[in-house]
Amino acid sequence: MSFSIRSRHLSLPALALGFAFACSSTPQDGPDGGGGGSTASGGAATGGSSEDPGATGGSPIGGAGAPSGGDSNGGGELPRGDGFHRMEKLDRGLVAVVVDGGVYVGFRMHGYEYDPENPGRVAYAVYRDGAQVTTLESSTNYLDADGSADSRYTVRLVLDGVERDESEEVTPWTQEYLRIPIEPPGANYQANDGSAGDVDGDGQYELFLKWEPNNAKDNSQSGHTDDVYIDALKLDGTRLWRINLGRNIRAGAHYTQFIVYDFDGDGKAELAMKTAPGTRDGTGAFLSKGPAATANHDADYRNDGGYILTGPEYLTVFSGETGEELATTTFEVGRENVSGWGNDEGYGNRVDRFLATAAHLDDTGLGSIVMARGYYGRSTLTAWNFRDGELTQLWKFDSNQTPTDASGNRFTGQGAHSLSVANVDDDPQQEIIYGAMTIDHDGKGLCSTNYGHGDALHVTDLIPSRPGIEAFMPHENTASPDWTLWDPGTCEIIHKSPNDGTDTGRGVAADIDPDNPGAEMWASGGVPFLSATTAQTLGSKPSQINFVIWWDGDESRELEDGTTITKYGGGSLLTCGQCASNNGTKSTPTLSADLFGDWREEIVWRESNNAALRVYTTTHLTQRRIYTLMHDPQYRAAISWQNVAYNQPPHPSFHIGAGMADPPAPDIHVR
Ligand code: CA
Ligand code: CA
Ligand code: CA
Ligand code: CA
Ligand code: CA
Ligand code: CA
Ligand code: CA
Repeated sequence: MSFSIRSRHLSLPALALGFAFACSSTPQDGPDGGGGGSTASGGAATGGSSEDPGATGGSPIGGAGAPSGGDSNGGGELPRGDGFHRMEKLDRGLVAVVVDGGVYVGFRMHGYEYDPENPGRVAYAVYRDGAQVTTLESSTNYLDADGSADSRYTVRLVLDGVERDESEEVTPWTQEYLRIPIEPPGANYQANDGSAGDVDGDGQYELFLKWEPNNAKDNSQSGHTDDVYIDALKLDGTRLWRINLGRNIRAGAHYTQFIVYDFDGDGKAELAMKTAPGTRDGTGAFLSKGPAATANHDADYRNDGGYILTGPEYLTVFSGETGEELATTTFEVGRENVSGWGNDEGYGNRVDRFLATAAHLDDTGLGSIVMARGYYGRSTLTAWNFRDGELTQLWKFDSNQTPTDASGNRFTGQGAHSLSVANVDDDPQQEIIYGAMTIDHDGKGLCSTNYGHGDALHVTDLIPSRPGIEAFMPHENTASPDWTLWDPGTCEIIHKSPNDGTDTGRGVAADIDPDNPGAEMWASGGVPFLSATTAQTLGSKPSQINFVIWWDGDESRELEDGTTITKYGGGSLLTCGQCASNNGTKSTPTLSADLFGDWREEIVWRESNNAALRVYTTTHLTQRRIYTLMHDPQYRAAISWQNVAYNQPPHPSFHIGAGMADPPAPDIHVR
């Protein structure tokens, strides 16, 4: 049954808040009522909470899962998919927002509800105050002209004409964003990158937030930094815990890559990241497992320049729910020769370049942890499984052991400041696109373009008329083309630019122009606006070379930069004047992901004074129905790696854009 996970965890008090957004009518007067109240101060309506009989009395199932008087699951088992990849069992993600002309209502279609052979099998009935207002057969959003801020909404799956499970109940936001109060760990801290995972199994995402001190450093800069912290936040503003990474983890974009994913498949997300002596988990305790059992937590391994080039390095898996240390092992690959990671920069620059992600690598369909070190020269990736409370190594790739691919192209110096995860071959597991090279799911080097390092990376179906997916990257090496577009399964080059001898520092590939089939690509310097399909020059190049986001009603993607969303060839669609972007000139959001509502992406920005995060959701109506992007394994992995180094926007495994084909059914199941 759809709600079996919830009922199994009914004893958890946090669940009393878990069935709806903070703005819902679910009672907010439980042990976490302070959090609910502070959310309300941001404008989210909470009225009517005490009048909701279904959600009171500690039985949220009664309110959310079983509408009064009906056997809503009378049609038998609900679909849960039988594909390879284990994905999250999410709730309906229902959101309602007061807009001009009524109330916008949006919600998610689950990936396993989508039948491309017979899409009409599934529809959704929208209810206001217990009465049906519409049935949606080809979209997952609706403008309810008769709705108001006091309305209460639910949505029921209609499968083969039979109404089935009912969603959580919500009341409308009175503004276009959810405000999540946050608390800096000290003066001189900024809220930085985010991630998302369902830590308690209720089907609603929690957010993870990295706090970065103002004295964080790029690896090229010496100097001591203050501690880095990670918080977990419920959408109602409750802070679940705070991890302090301690003095032996340096603050800066290249050091802490925090990966949130349900690695053991128990329905609750974990957090995996590099740790060190001095790290305190979310309960406040120093690490104590594995090699950390003998750690000297008072040790200060920083050298005079603030670099940490000695001392133990760990990989720790933390509970997403409590922040408790679950397992710690020795981080691999270790520093070894500090000067051995490219350019002989032995002062601590190239050795401490870390990337990381979740990826589905083994035959279980569950996620594994990939922790990588080095990309300017020696490049290493180590895959780990966290299962049954244990961390075990799945494989290790080292360009010192495998310097080239079969054609002689190098596996050294190919990495970008991010990485991507996609299925690029015939097996269902995912491969790692490590900049200009691909590592197979089993840890073998698959191929390399040999064009070397770059600062950005975009992997998706950029050329819909061509089978498979494509990868795009600008290159730093002045001896390489300014950019390349290639097949990440073979590393065959599809298009590449002339080389004007410059470092092309920024580049994007995405479908933003409906007049050109498939994706466009553009980059800094003299690179024009180009068709990914033909490499022909198109119209005017966007001034933004940063994130992209699906926001308005059409399938083309929009531009996201700073704290503004802009339509290509049009104007600004959304801007937050009270917000700030992250990472200096990179101007990236805290997080962009399909967190709730329909398939279009939510954007998370911090308020400029770090008092709150704001989660904006679209209220533009769309006729397009697509299952939640979080049920596309490639997109879900991308949310795990979005925070890594120089953040890049997520991309799904299939084409979304003007003239798009219906998406394929995802090869997934949920527990
Ligand atoms: Ca949750
Ligand atoms: Ca888990
Ligand atoms: Ca594969
Ligand atoms: Ca393609
Ligand atoms: Ca296009
Ligand atoms: Ca659009
Ligand atoms: Ca969404």
